[in-house]
Amino acid sequence: YGTNSGNICTTPGCVTAAARIIQNMDTTADPCKDFYQYACGGWLNRHVIPETSSRYSIFDILRDELEIILKGVLESSDQGDREAFQKAKILYKSCMNESLIEQRDSLPLLEVLTMVGDWPVASADWNSTKGNTVAEREKLSIMNSRFNKRVLIDMFVWNDDRDSSRHIIYMTVNLFIRTLRTHTISSVQVREAYLQFMITIAKMIREDMNISKDDLFVQEEMAKVMELETDIANATTPAEERHDATLLYNKMTLKELQEKFALNVSEFNWTFFIQGVMSSVSVQVDPEEEVVVYGMPYLQELKAIISKYSASTIQNYLIWRLVIDRVSSLSRRFKDARASYRKALYGTTLEEARWRECVSYVNNNMENAVGAMYVRETFAGESKRMVQDLIDKIREVFIETLDELQWMDEASKAKAREKVRDNMKLQYSFMNMKSLEYCSITLNFSEHNYFENILENLRAGAQKSLKKLRERVDQDIWIIGAAVVNAFYSPNRNQIVFPAGILQPPFFSKHQPQALNFGGIGMVIGHEITHGFDDNGRNFDKDGNMFDWWSNFSAMHFKEQSRCMVHQYGNYTWELAGGQNVSGISTLGENIADNGGVRQAYKAYLKWLEQEGKEPKLPGLNLSHKQLFFLNFAQVWCGSYRPEYASQSIKTDVHSPLKYRVMGSLQNFEAFSEVFHCKKGTAMHPADKCRVW
Ligand SMILES: [Zn+2]
Repeated sequence: YGTNSGNICTTPGCVTAAARIIQNMDTTADPCKDFYQYACGGWLNRHVIPETSSRYSIFDILRDELEIILKGVLESSDQGDREAFQKAKILYKSCMNESLIEQRDSLPLLEVLTMVGDWPVASADWNSTKGNTVAEREKLSIMNSRFNKRVLIDMFVWNDDRDSSRHIIYMTVNLFIRTLRTHTISSVQVREAYLQFMITIAKMIREDMNISKDDLFVQEEMAKVMELETDIANATTPAEERHDATLLYNKMTLKELQEKFALNVSEFNWTFFIQGVMSSVSVQVDPEEEVVVYGMPYLQELKAIISKYSASTIQNYLIWRLVIDRVSSLSRRFKDARASYRKALYGTTLEEARWRECVSYVNNNMENAVGAMYVRETFAGESKRMVQDLIDKIREVFIETLDELQWMDEASKAKAREKVRDNMKLQYSFMNMKSLEYCSITLNFSEHNYFENILENLRAGAQKSLKKLRERVDQDIWIIGAAVVNAFYSPNRNQIVFPAGILQPPFFSKHQPQALNFGGIGMVIGHEITHGFDDNGRNFDKDGNMFDWWSNFSAMHFKEQSRCMVHQYGNYTWELAGGQNVSGISTLGENIADNGGVRQAYKAYLKWLEQEGKEPKLPGLNLSHKQLFFLNFAQVWCGSYRPEYASQSIKTDVHSPLKYRVMGSLQNFEAFSEVFHCKKGTAMHPADKCRVW
């Protein structure tokens, strides 16, 4: 970004940026009344959500474009490639081989079913032949260690929240069960479609196993599974009530776990179960091993639920959870069977193109290899230096801004400063050959066996994470691949992560005005830093340990400041989601981060202006750079939802709907109103404002 003619920048970078901004806008809208419409109205008018998508946004388009690059990379010839790249390409090829997948049909799934003791609903006489041959805990262990499938209870190895240098076993409510809670409890249509989906799949498997048709039996069995699932979902605490990580964390020994939460299923024993899982990676655990139990009430209720159902219903449930995940990797008729369910849940009526499905599967499962290939293909090294510079600036602003805060006392400010300045680590997911080879070394793929390749990934994924139990935490290991359009904060590591995939317009370009970079990637940087101090992040200290470093005064006022935002966002009514209100509590952390992010980025931009002087204007836009800052910030969030998905995501997404992410943070920010000359009392400049950071 450089030369200008007169006062207007006419470089290709400036012209492209200007065109993008103009197209996205609706200049007929009043920026003080509805800034989202003003910034995104043009975009919303020109885009129809594709039949394959439940949401469509500028973010989603960037992801679509990234997939196109990855397609090219994965389809290129692999002569002389390093091993990890070759493996990624084989995996992709196996996924693309649809004719072979059709030909093999349900066969690979049937083989899996026999490995886990059969699916009663699709067995001739399961009760008399299989009923008691494999103990529940063994099945659960196998599901966990071989198929990375965690049912009934989520058992996994992760950084100990209270000692970030080591790993520990967690027992918690399965994330899926939580999601299910909102799915199944909420909508009759979803429930109905879900049950039909279960029944259809069970009937298909019966037929493929040459078992006589018995529709009534299948219907009854799957209805019981659904009832069991509903009971399990109901036993979970609602999202809004499990918000405080410090209250959920309960450390105990395996022995205590067994004593407290013994299930009355024959021979089921938590100690044996965990020993079974860990033995798959040759790690021995004894009854004195410590585990962290998250969400005790659920474990308590599980006992009662399990004893209500027969062994065959429980087995039907376990296997169904395994089957539902595999449906998408089978032949066409299996994928078609879930069409109505998908429609009810997401509103989508078409499947993604096969290559997109395959690209995203390979990227999700070999993120290091695909990330490295992506960076090799696209990434310009000097951007890294520019982004580093932005990060330093925004970090500094976060620290300076602490001085403005009246609600926090000096002692807590000192701790906060320390957490950001000296200890917040930074990671770019660019290229790291060490972890690249390490991750793919044990993987064995075949070009012909897509289904088995998936199982291979599941096994490797489970083992990689279980094995960590006896290893120290490696702070350098990547937590996400490079080919991702997103950014992250990890409280356990006090680390912000920027994948290469987000370093592109509109977020960032060295060819676009700095106002846009600060409003784009600058805001994202501020957002991630602020996550270290949101309602969850604030519970962790500079070393990533869950440790209360707050004075009573500051903690009390933090909660008070937060309550203002809980109220503000909780008052947004989303018509698309049937008029439901946003959950101010569930979205609090993201809203705190959004508000802090835009404020810090703006301040850092003002400082940059002071040092570097004015930037030339953008062609065709009679707007100041301060206005452009806010415009680009808002345009990052242009997008629309299908109503089905809106109804789901308002209950499950920790982010506010795109529109309210923009409205909420700008309504709270005086500088925005100044820049757009919004009078007090207009929608964008309400008298009451919330501020945490
Ligand atoms: Zn966030």
